[in-house]
Amino acid sequence: MNHVADSSVRHHCGLFGIWGHPDAAALTHLGLYAQQHRGQESAGIATSDGGRLTRYARRGLVNQVFNESVIRTLRGRAAIGHVRYSTTGSDTEENAQPLLFSFAGGQVAIAHNGNLINAALLRRSYEDFGHIFQTTSDTEVIIHLLAKPAHRRRKRALEHVLNHLQGAYSLLLLFPDRLAAVRDPLGFRPLCLGQLSNGAVVAASETKALDLIEAKYLRDVEPGEIVLIGDSGIESHRFGPERKGERKAACIFEHVYFADPASRVFGDNVHLARVAMGMRLADEAPATGDLVVPIPTCGQCAAIGFSRRSGLPYGRAFTTSHYAGRSFILPNPADRASTVKIKLNVIREAVAGRRLVVVEDSVVRGTTTRGKIHALRAAGAKEIHLRVASPPIRHGCYFGIDFPEPTQLIASARTVEEIRDFLEVDSLAYLSLEGMLGCVNMPANQYCTACFSGDYPVDITEPVDKYAIERAQLRMFS
Ligand code: SF4
Repeated sequence: MNHVADSSVRHHCGLFGIWGHPDAAALTHLGLYAQQHRGQESAGIATSDGGRLTRYARRGLVNQVFNESVIRTLRGRAAIGHVRYSTTGSDTEENAQPLLFSFAGGQVAIAHNGNLINAALLRRSYEDFGHIFQTTSDTEVIIHLLAKPAHRRRKRALEHVLNHLQGAYSLLLLFPDRLAAVRDPLGFRPLCLGQLSNGAVVAASETKALDLIEAKYLRDVEPGEIVLIGDSGIESHRFGPERKGERKAACIFEHVYFADPASRVFGDNVHLARVAMGMRLADEAPATGDLVVPIPTCGQCAAIGFSRRSGLPYGRAFTTSHYAGRSFILPNPADRASTVKIKLNVIREAVAGRRLVVVEDSVVRGTTTRGKIHALRAAGAKEIHLRVASPPIRHGCYFGIDFPEPTQLIASARTVEEIRDFLEVDSLAYLSLEGMLGCVNMPANQYCTACFSGDYPVDITEPVDKYAIERAQLRMFS
């Protein structure tokens, strides 16, 4: 899916793993392809032939990184794969995942979706003891914890190590003889299990990946659970205390923007959750107009819901370019309006002289939304009433989503009226926090809403940002 809505927010990462299939690498390739929307900077696969791990990971999209001859080199009946958008560390080849390491305990490959908020601190303490890190990714610290003699000699070394981590992590770890699927105790990021008809077990960030390879959905990995998959079957272990009914932190933004509408995430189909948000928005903030139009492509589901509830017809105002890609050259790279023009075209005859109710999934910086509004005005729209199917984003994310600095968020220091003025729309309304949470199945205390509410599920003790580890390295050598 092409998320054109607001390029100010980058995606995070997607995971795929399989145990027990002769075409493990080829199926992982497909599983990553289905989750390309979760990360477009790099892609990688690591396989196990039962005795040895092999890895191939490069910068680029899945279909740029892999071809048939590469897939043929990745032998074995087990694999893990990763698509990445960097949320800690730069977009470099050495940070491409899965990462592969050899240590006294053997070989291990690791793929991570999320962000460890104590990674820089842990890394500093290991570096003080002379450890050498190969990447600037937060994920590598997990392997240093695992390799520490006092940890690796424990009976349940992985459980012990996971208790040292703070923040968001869905993980796949591939050892020569087993695959581990892990979700952090607060369950920030999704991770589900499935099974193929030959009995092979599959793990993926989103159910869309299971559908593509015709795997049956089994269940989600629970927050705080390790699922060990091997030739003798599936074993489940808990690490940390079980928090039944206690606060958790499933990222509500997966439903608003990140996950694919075809996927089932945290127990809800994403498309239906977004349609429900659009319906709720129509109840909370009705608008008078001739046509409900989405901002492609993420606003589509909510616009369907708005139209259904309001009785106003649904229509298209934009076409999207499937060929714009990520790498076109702009005369002025800062000109986000040009980016909008390249990716979206207004259907002039559909909007000229009409009162439009424009539905957007979320507004981050506001600059790309303003570009789209300008394009609609230039095509002759008579009135534009903007309805946003989530609350104003006022705070940063430290859990695996690369939002801009809080000061660059349009809603961080502006009232709704000031935002309306900036966007140059006739009216503007957002869905309420309660309204948004009323559209998903779990109780409100099971979700993270921090970017909207400022209510962080984990204490942020030191500033966390994408380049913290690299800056610390520069300080060390300056
Ligand atoms: S702060 Fe927002 S984007 Fe980040 S995990 Fe929480 S809900 Fe998701």
